Amino acid sequence: KLYNEVIELKGNIRVFCRCRPLNSEEVASGSTCVVEFDHSQDSELQVLSSDSSKKPFKFDHVFKPEDDQGAVFAQTKPIIASVMDGYNVCIFAYGQTGTGKTFTMEGTQENRGVNYRTLEELFQISEERNGIMRYELFVSMLEVYNEKIRDLLVESSEQPAKKLEIKQAAEGTQEVPGLVESRVFRTEEVWELLKSGSRARSVGSTSANELSSRSHCLLRVMVKGENLINGQKTKSHLWMVDLAGSERVGRIEVEGDRLRESQFINKSLSALGDVISALASKSAHIPYRNSKLTHMLQSSLGGDCKTLMFVQISPSSADLGETLCSLNFASRVR
Ligand code: ADP
Ligand code: MG
Repeated sequence: KLYNEVIELKGNIRVFCRCRPLNSEEVASGSTCVVEFDHSQDSELQVLSSDSSKKPFKFDHVFKPEDDQGAVFAQTKPIIASVMDGYNVCIFAYGQTGTGKTFTMEGTQENRGVNYRTLEELFQISEERNGIMRYELFVSMLEVYNEKIRDLLVESSEQPAKKLEIKQAAEGTQEVPGLVESRVFRTEEVWELLKSGSRARSVGSTSANELSSRSHCLLRVMVKGENLINGQKTKSHLWMVDLAGSERVGRIEVEGDRLRESQFINKSLSALGDVISALASKSAHIPYRNSKLTHMLQSSLGGDCKTLMFVQISPSSADLGETLCSLNFASRVR
């Protein structure tokens, strides 16, 4: 590798938990906060169950409702930065719809998330290494919905976007032939590009929020690096994934298209959990091929790749069941 790692990561898999604030509707409807934090440390939380017992959970970092985007990125930065040293990196936001997955990854105009801050940081590193390294950055955005892959960066005139397939490349890596790889030069152009991608995510659906909660949105940054001293070249991928909502669908709605959708989501989220827990336990067989999501990410999960999972939770008593499911899922992959 080209540079010594800036920080020594404790293993290659990390899990961060982020709890959003209780919102005004929840307060108005009488919901209470069932997640407790210990203000003397930032790796544990407790969930108050309905029988008033407390269940503790421990992660690599726990972000409290008052922690802002800057605090989240400060912990994320060392992991994403390793893509500039030739490592592949995957970041996931997992959780029930409405818990802040999109807020953490995309963010808002005023509170930009991990995606934008990451590109800003990569440009910064490129600048700092000017004269030693030459970098080229390319951005791709795609969506996986019902096990179909769709390019989110194709021109709007070509919508609905063409379907893409995963191909095994000669070097044993996975490629998606035809995927748009948009070269980016400056931080300023990135926000608009990311916004156009997320707009394309909702094309064809009656409600943007509805579809986005049932599809996985993947942002890929390809980094091509050249060491100007010894000529060594690297190509690495950083994936930032806003996963479909992990909630179990209510029985009444479960029929037809909705049933199919929820089966695809369950399949891909559990495939992802299986892959990460197999990696964490150093299992000999890693079941990448069980979903499009894990198959596509195969060469960026495992080996010396870095993996970060954000488990997003709601503090509300109304979401207790889903919160426990998400925390248990995240504990399994750690
Ligand atoms: P998801 O993508 O998981 O469905 P969203 O990111 O859309 O959830 O978040 C749901 C709502 O909660 C949004 O209005 C979002 O702005 C707000 N929200 C989420 N996390 C936070 C947070 N940490 N601080 C403030 N508001 C948040
Ligand atoms: Mg979302």
